[in-house]
Amino acid sequence: MELLSVVATFFLGVSVGSFTGVVVEREGHSNNIKLKGNNRLILFLVQSFPWVLGRSRCDKCKRELRWFDNIPLISFILLRGKCRFCDAAIPFRYFVVELLMGFTFVWGYLNLTSLASPTLGQISPISPIFNSANLFGSLSAYPLLLLFTIFVFLWALASITLVDFRFGLIPDGILLASGLIVLLIRIFLVVQGDPWLNSMVMPFFWAFVSSFFFAFLILITKGKGMGWGDVKLVFWMGLWLGWQILIALWLAFLTGAVAGIILILYRRKKWGQTLPFGPFLAWGTLVSAFAGDYLVSHILPKLFP
Ligand SMILES: [Zn+2]
Repeated sequence: MELLSVVATFFLGVSVGSFTGVVVEREGHSNNIKLKGNNRLILFLVQSFPWVLGRSRCDKCKRELRWFDNIPLISFILLRGKCRFCDAAIPFRYFVVELLMGFTFVWGYLNLTSLASPTLGQISPISPIFNSANLFGSLSAYPLLLLFTIFVFLWALASITLVDFRFGLIPDGILLASGLIVLLIRIFLVVQGDPWLNSMVMPFFWAFVSSFFFAFLILITKGKGMGWGDVKLVFWMGLWLGWQILIALWLAFLTGAVAGIILILYRRKKWGQTLPFGPFLAWGTLVSAFAGDYLVSHILPKLFP
């Protein structure tokens, strides 16, 4: 195994994780952004992509961080989790997000190398994923683009989950940025000769059908547990998954219901109290993208023989 590329991938993931920590916080507070003048387009762009604003600062004393205090993982350890200027604690979640993102990227990379090298493929239990008839399967002829796509996909899912857990909202900017990327990738595939009906029309079809279904659900349940952010997220999922969004939604509703029942049993929540649904949708999307075909061909026939 190429240890060096695994290490490099880990540090790439950790750096993206560092960026993600900032993205999550800024997305959560983006509605508070005010601008001089009232150009609506610019305000919309800045609220959607608040990450581009300024450098990293200490949450407490607002002083700008020096570059050497901004090195993922390492700075946190060297500073012992405290701001250099005011000694305020740096939230531990930044460190956790960086570490998790590092491992997530390595996981994505190892899955890709399982495609390239059969020996690694036999070790990895999830290697059949890139034989799937989905977006990732279609990209298997372009390993570098596939790797990039996996990273964008994992980054978006992780960020959406974190923002929804922390602030109870679905971040527009992350959906827009990653949605645009998946659209460009689909255009690329069509230009390369993939059937446009499969690669372009069907994902949009499923995106529209699923988000209409969600909008309908919200209207009849008056938005208990779900919001319009989830409608946008479901549209985004359709662009990535095509018909396999059905698997993602099935998993999301199933695990969401189980989690809801567990929370009620432990008296953490009352019936009808809202649990953010975004993380369940994100988890369903992940499993559907990487194991959807496997579920359909191996697990479903056993459940419904
Ligand atoms: Zn400070």
